[in-house]
Amino acid sequence: MQTEPCRDAVKENQPVRLRGHHFLCLLTYKGLGYTPAFVENMTAVATRINAGAKVILHPGPDDICAALSPADRAACNHDCAKPETAALDDMAEKATVAVLGHGLNEAFTLDAEKVEKLRAAFLTGESRSACGLCRWRAVCDEIAESGFAETLLKGAHAT
Ligand code: SF4
Repeated sequence: MQTEPCRDAVKENQPVRLRGHHFLCLLTYKGLGYTPAFVENMTAVATRINAGAKVILHPGPDDICAALSPADRAACNHDCAKPETAALDDMAEKATVAVLGHGLNEAFTLDAEKVEKLRAAFLTGESRSACGLCRWRAVCDEIAESGFAETLLKGAHAT
C-alpha cells in the first residue's frame, strides 16, 4: 500500500489542475469512487468547473489526486508509483490536446461545447488509450453508452 502523499493541496483561487487521464475520468463521473472523501473532492472539482473555474492540463498529481488516501492509492490503477502511469498520462495528454487544442499548463474554460467534443472522442474510443486495463472500464463503457446520463460534469456555464 502507498503511504506517501503524492499531492499538493487544492488552491481554490487557481485553475483546476487536471492530469491527462482525469480529462477522461471526469467525463463519466457520476459520484462513484474509492472512498467518500475521494468522491466528495471529485464532485467538488466537477462543481468548480461547472461554475466556470478555468482548468489546466497538468503533469502529475492534480486536484483530484489531492484527496487520495493511502487506501485509495493502493486501489488506483493510475497511481504515480506504478511504472505505467506516466505513459498512460502521456497518451491521455496527447488525446486531450488533439481534441481541445490546449497544451500543458494553458488555462482555459472547459465549457459545455468542449465537454461534448471530449465525450464524442471518448465514445468512439479515439481518446481512450489511457483507459487500458483500468478496473472502472466496464462502468465507464456503460455510462458512455448511456449517453453519459447522470454524470456530474456539465461544462462551464451549462444550463
Ligand atoms: S476507464 Fe478508468 S481511466 Fe478510463 S475514464 Fe474510466 S476511470 Fe478513467
